Amino acid sequence: MGGARINTFLSYIKTKDRSLLKILRHLKITEKNGRIYLTVPDPSKKEELESILRVKLGDRLRENVVVVTGESGEDLRRSGISPRFTFENFIVGEGNRLAYEVARSVAENPGSLYNPFFLYGKVGLGKTHLLQAIGNFCVAKGLRVAYRSAGEFSEEMVESLREGRITEFRNRYRGVDVLLIDDVQFLSGKDRTQMELFNIFNHLYMREKQIVLASDRHPRDLRDVSDRLVSRFEGGVVVEITLDEVTKLEIIKRKLQELRIAVHDRIVRSIMETTGPSVREIEGAIRTIKIRGPEVLRPRGSKTDLERIQEVVASYFGITKEELLGNGRSIRVSRSRRIAMYLCRRLTGASLIEIARAFQRKDHSTVIHSIRRVEEERKKDRKTDYILTFLEKQIRGKF
Ligand code: ADP
Ligand code: MG
Repeated sequence: MGGARINTFLSYIKTKDRSLLKILRHLKITEKNGRIYLTVPDPSKKEELESILRVKLGDRLRENVVVVTGESGEDLRRSGISPRFTFENFIVGEGNRLAYEVARSVAENPGSLYNPFFLYGKVGLGKTHLLQAIGNFCVAKGLRVAYRSAGEFSEEMVESLREGRITEFRNRYRGVDVLLIDDVQFLSGKDRTQMELFNIFNHLYMREKQIVLASDRHPRDLRDVSDRLVSRFEGGVVVEITLDEVTKLEIIKRKLQELRIAVHDRIVRSIMETTGPSVREIEGAIRTIKIRGPEVLRPRGSKTDLERIQEVVASYFGITKEELLGNGRSIRVSRSRRIAMYLCRRLTGASLIEIARAFQRKDHSTVIHSIRRVEEERKKDRKTDYILTFLEKQIRGKF
């Protein structure tokens, strides 16, 4: 640590967010060309920190803060592998099944069946996850594994070259059992890196060591990558990974559960709609919900779901919204109110306190009471159940 900019940065964070300061305290912080670099141990930590920074820092500051993965305290037998990404926590569906299955076979029988394994697809679909899962699986078997993005591989090569350690560099990679190179599209135009990789590739391949590559495009669509390297990449099995809607839905539900967020239809649907075909985007949306609550996904300025529910219920029972929110105790009004509270709880992610507030109640004990009572009624009385089912359908149509 040190450096004027870093100190300014840290004292700014201190005034803004002490919990963030705590996280930063454990990281290596450096300064280069006016930017601040935060070094985290592995790629999963990188994404986590980036998403925290996205939420907590303003745009202008964020532009000058870069999160990078570093080598600190690295175990050379599992170089670049994060324990976070496994086959077990990879959710499989139609669009990624083949990729998953080939990855598993590769992990189980490295160097024999599919060599090299070239995985490609758009960003955020799980390529890095699968590479890392292969890595973890092989590390557990006692194999020597190295994971690098092509960019990191290239930087390491350039630095080794500059410092006269290129032989050491070559030997390091020639000594692995499984070589995982991610984002190989970044080899584009890097002739020397391509040459080094080509030689390492051949060395490993001849010894039946496993090579796995991932990219955002098919090998033949790589730009400024030498033909001989492309033909090596195509020489084993090439698999595309995609994300279909059914799998996307499944992933949303599972990830909500993992973060212990209630899996309400409305939340699931708004994540489906506000995210593209990318698991990374889904995770981002869910993390934002976790930090800021489900309200963030709603377009600003529109009515809240609680208000919509109140309106539907009031008009169904033929009372005004003022009556619904007021203190009137007539049977019809109090029943409508209980039902509205119940539906708010059932159909939105709102907390009891939020519901109490929406009904202008000071504390939420009335809400708890009302919900319980409606639950009882619903169980016992078919007509109530019928009304509630009808209202639920109507309300869902309005979200
Ligand atoms: P890519 O390398 O294809 O851009 P990543 O592997 O980095 O995508 O995936 C982005 C995020 O989504 C990661 O946190 C990863 O764990 C998660 N992810 C992707 N696919 C799945 C899946 N099928 N099941 C569970 N998590 C997934
Ligand atoms: Mg990736």
